[in-house]
Amino acid sequence: MRLRSIRARLTFWYTSLLTVTLLVLGGAAYVLLSYSLSHEVDAALTGVAETLAERSHGSSTVIPPAEIEGLFRRFFGFSPWDRYYQMLDPRRHRDSPEPKSSPDRAPLSREALNNATRGLPTFETVEGLGPHPVRLLTMPVMEGNRLANLIQVGMSLESITETRVRFLLVMAALLPIGLLLAGSGGWLLARRALQPVVRMADAAQRISAEHLAQRVDETGTGDELDHLAKTLNQMLSRLDAAFSQIRQFSASASHELQTPLTILKGELEVALRSPRTPEEYRAALTSSLEEVDRIAHLVEGLLLLSRAEAGVLKMDRQPVDLTQLLEEVYSRLKFLADSHSIELRLGPVEAISLPGDREHLRRLLLNLTENAIKYSEPRGSVALSLHGDEKWAYVVVEDTGIGIPAEEQGKIFEPFYRTAEARSQAESGTGLGLCIARSIAEAHGGAIHVHSVPGRGSTFKVLIPVRIG
Ligand code: ADP
Repeated sequence: MRLRSIRARLTFWYTSLLTVTLLVLGGAAYVLLSYSLSHEVDAALTGVAETLAERSHGSSTVIPPAEIEGLFRRFFGFSPWDRYYQMLDPRRHRDSPEPKSSPDRAPLSREALNNATRGLPTFETVEGLGPHPVRLLTMPVMEGNRLANLIQVGMSLESITETRVRFLLVMAALLPIGLLLAGSGGWLLARRALQPVVRMADAAQRISAEHLAQRVDETGTGDELDHLAKTLNQMLSRLDAAFSQIRQFSASASHELQTPLTILKGELEVALRSPRTPEEYRAALTSSLEEVDRIAHLVEGLLLLSRAEAGVLKMDRQPVDLTQLLEEVYSRLKFLADSHSIELRLGPVEAISLPGDREHLRRLLLNLTENAIKYSEPRGSVALSLHGDEKWAYVVVEDTGIGIPAEEQGKIFEPFYRTAEARSQAESGTGLGLCIARSIAEAHGGAIHVHSVPGRGSTFKVLIPVRIG
């Protein structure tokens, strides 16, 4: 049987468990009841037999039936049970017990006789004495060591059997009623307990990408469901933040792409408006090519970032001579630094080789050094250095440029973020360079730290592990 709803499953398991519990308890109660009833009968039989033994003084004195009736009444109360009593002379039965019972004569088994000769009482359940089985006690009456008399007291087990049957009937009647009540109670309880889950599911169904600011209700009770609601809400908050970041990213990306595209379109339109000389066309095309370059650069950066975000940015892990790479970057940007009247220095540089992606590391170093040159005033200086320890290689790019205000130092690694000062410098820039540099460092298992004082200069420190893992 497959129960689809948790509610049905809970009720099913609850009722099944209760059935088993009730059956076990009922069974135990039945066994206990039977035991204590038998025990009571045996105790009463012993009481009657002992009193009779005392009364008979070891002889076969005939005790008047009224007295015996009184005795039974004393020990059994006013029970309607059939009772039985006889006194036997052991000498007559020394060798011949009477194993068979007849309606007016109780049997004397060999075992009872043997026990009696050793002074021990015997309890037996015998058939044939009446319509129902009879519990029979054979009690020896001793005179010193001699068996003087045998007293047999018995009583019908009819009443005990009746009590047992009645108990079973009551159990059989009450069990289904109890289970029905418990099952319906369980069904209602499960509905009540699961109501918050249903509400949560409804609320979660209403939340879509456009409504991520909505939250599911928290009950504040601190229970498991409240914890679930809190966890869901925390997840929604994270999703909301991630979605806003993506929206912000695509808005900024479109905006950044729109500017060069508008310029490109304008230039081409102007060039086509009236006939031009070949030189004018050449100038227009050269200028357009610059914008196309800018767009291509931007798109390339965006692609790299989205790959890094998606975790599919492929990093080579070939040995890279970092010293040589830094020298390459130095030679490549020397001309740019000179054209800005900035002194680009290299050193001190330790010899370090590490596992990494040469092209990506080159991009990282170029981005940082270009920035250092771009955001420095003429006659400033930029220094590149490299050192290492047993765990890390440290590339330091230090400039005497415009610096970055403390409150913005955490933000410059976000995509498209540019400080107001950087914008006013009117230098070209996409705001992606540092973000890309950090993604590359992190993809290598490293990091970038910045220390900067506005108006004094900035130091960017790149950490790359010298070993994998
Ligand atoms: P871009 O240089 O294209 O604007 P980046 O991501 O490389 O974008 O840098 C982000 C911002 O960080 C820059 O706009 C600038 O405000 C600041 N910045 C980066 N490097 C430096 C530096 N060496 N000195 C001062 N400001 C810097």
